Amino acid sequence: MSSIESYLEAQQDGFVEELCDLLRIPSVSAQPAHQGDMRRAADWIEQRFRRMGFSTEVIPTSGHPLVYAESPRVENAPTVLVYGHYDVQPAEPFDLWTSPPFEPTRRDGHLFARGATDDKGQMLTHVFSAQAWIEVEGRLPLNLKYLIEGEEEVGSASLAAFVRENRERLACDCVVISDGAQFGPEQPAITYGLRGIAYYDLVLTGPNRDLHSGSFGGTVTNPANALARILAALIDEHGRIQVPGFYDDVVPLSERERQQMAALPFDERQYLEQIGVSGLSGEEGYTTLERRWARPTYDINGLSSGYQGDGAKTVLPKSAAAKFSFRLVPNQDPEKIGRALRTMLAALCPPGIQLELDEHHNTPGVLIPMDSASIAAAARAIERAFGRAPVYTREGGSIPVVSTFHEALGVDILLLGWGQDDDNTHSPNEKFSLVDFHRGIKASALLWEELSKPSR
Ligand SMILES: [Zn+2]
Repeated sequence: MSSIESYLEAQQDGFVEELCDLLRIPSVSAQPAHQGDMRRAADWIEQRFRRMGFSTEVIPTSGHPLVYAESPRVENAPTVLVYGHYDVQPAEPFDLWTSPPFEPTRRDGHLFARGATDDKGQMLTHVFSAQAWIEVEGRLPLNLKYLIEGEEEVGSASLAAFVRENRERLACDCVVISDGAQFGPEQPAITYGLRGIAYYDLVLTGPNRDLHSGSFGGTVTNPANALARILAALIDEHGRIQVPGFYDDVVPLSERERQQMAALPFDERQYLEQIGVSGLSGEEGYTTLERRWARPTYDINGLSSGYQGDGAKTVLPKSAAAKFSFRLVPNQDPEKIGRALRTMLAALCPPGIQLELDEHHNTPGVLIPMDSASIAAAARAIERAFGRAPVYTREGGSIPVVSTFHEALGVDILLLGWGQDDDNTHSPNEKFSLVDFHRGIKASALLWEELSKPSR
C-alpha cells in the first residue's frame, strides 16, 4: 500500500486541478439554461473513466444523462458499485459568494465552489483512488462499477427507474456513497441507518357551505374540531403513535447501538440553543439522539381550515385539511401502515363528515447490520486514512436513492461522508476541506483493498 500512498501524495496538486476543471462546469440541473453544461459535465466524467481504461457509457434519460463505467474485470474478486452525482444546486444569490461559485478558489485550506463537496469533490475521491491502483499496481484488487447521475438535486427521477430495470448490470456486493458529512471536524463517521417516511394529505368535508356558528353550532360536526380530535388521537401523551400495529415491525435499538450513541459527543444544550427552544420532548424512554435517528415519529406538517383573516368571524368551516407524516424506521412497511391508518381514521370519523386520505409519497427506512463485513472493511480503511476510528451514526432523514439501491440490489450501502456540516452545501460559499479531500481519496484507495480481502 505504501507505493499507492506515495503516488497519492505526489498527485495531490493534480487531483485538485482536475476537481477544479469539473467545478468550472456550471452543471445546475434545475436550470434549463445549463442543459449544455449538464452534458459537458457528463462527458467530462465519461472521458475521465475512459482514460483509466474503464468501459463507459453516457446513458440518455428523459432528464439529464447518467454516466456508467466499469473497471476491467478482475476474476474471483468482489464488486462494488459507487454512486455519485455531477449536478449541483443553483448558486444564487451570487452576491453572497466571496469568490465566484464556478471559479474554484483555494482559501484557508478549503476549496470554494458550487459542488466542491456536494458532490463533485466527494465523488471524485473514488475515481482518483481507482486511478492510483491502476497506475501503481496495474490493476484494481476488485471490480468497480460507477453510476453517476445528473438529477440528484432535482429528485433523481430517472435513477430509480434505471436501477430497478438494470438489477443485473448493477449487481454488486455493496454500494459506496460519499455525499455527506463526517460527525465533526477530525471525526469521520459511517452512517448505517436512515429513517424512511410516509406522507399523507387528509381532508375532512362537512356541510355544503361555511355556516353561522351561532345558528348551527352544536348541531353539526365542525370539520376543524373533528380534524383536531382525529390528529390528536394518532399519538398519546407518552409520544407513542396509536395506529394499530404501528410498532410491530420496528427493529429495536441494540444495546451496542445505544452505548455507541450515548458515547457520541452530542451537546444537548447546544442543540437547544441552535433551534431556539427551552426544552425537548418525544417518545418516552429514549435519548434525544435515539429519538432523532432510530425511533419513528408523527408530525403534522400543515393545517388549514376556517377563517384566517383579521379580527373574528364566527364561522363553522365547511372543511378542514392537514398534511402529516410518519418518519419510519426499519423494518416498518409504509404500505402496511397506510392500510392500518386508513382503518383507524374511518373508525374515528364522526357523523356528517366525509374523510379523504391521500398518500403523498413514502420511502422505507434503511439499516445496514453493524456487524456486516463491509462496514468492518470501511472502518479499517477510514481508520488507516484518517488516523482515527469512525463513529457510527444514523440519519433522521431519508435519502431516496439509498432506499432505491437497498431495495433493488439487496446489498449493504456504505455511507461514507468526507464533508463537514459547515461546508455550506446548497448555500453560498460552498467549500470542501482539501485535507479531507485527500484523506477521502486515501480512505477510498484503502477501502478497495479492505473490501477485496478474502476474510469477507
Ligand atoms: Zn449531494
